[in-house]
Amino acid sequence: MGYFYAGRKASNVISERLHKLLVNDYKAMPIVVQESASVYDAIVTLFLEDVGTLFIVNQKGYLAGVVSRKDLLRASLGNKTLEDMPVSIIMTRMPNIVTIFPEESLFAAAKKLIDFQIDSLPVVRAEEGDGRNFELLGRVTKTTIAKAFVELGQEPMV
Ligand code: ADP
Repeated sequence: MGYFYAGRKASNVISERLHKLLVNDYKAMPIVVQESASVYDAIVTLFLEDVGTLFIVNQKGYLAGVVSRKDLLRASLGNKTLEDMPVSIIMTRMPNIVTIFPEESLFAAAKKLIDFQIDSLPVVRAEEGDGRNFELLGRVTKTTIAKAFVELGQEPMV
């Protein structure tokens, strides 16, 4: 055992299969809020949309930052009024956002989540021009990876 058809090791087949999964086929909808929105609104959106991370966009709709649930918890600890605090002051902002392109592999996305110790990656396309503006196409989260993992495990054995 341990060998599949054509004498290839099972582990190689799994690895090959894994690297062929593309972000574009697994990405979920990005949940976004405007950078002018308040921390209060961001918290409400987090609950309504049932996500752990929000992507923040600027007036042109380009990716401006990321806010995680712990960012929001931290902001809530002080005595400040959350309605008056723009989410842009607490977000992790560009260019420090770790992103992924749709044509990259889901494996590359999973590796970034692990390497950078984050829960979510915005799936983006660079705008024509200087390439510093990113259009949001979706999200890949640890849940996305877990779902793909389960899907792979349910495939019939060759
Ligand atoms: P939590 O903070 O709820 O544990 P994360 O581990 O995803 O969630 O986030 C940790 C920190 O990294 C937060 O400050 C968050 O703003 C930031 N962060 C989350 N996702 C990204 C990303 N894709 N790129 C850069 N920073 C991120």
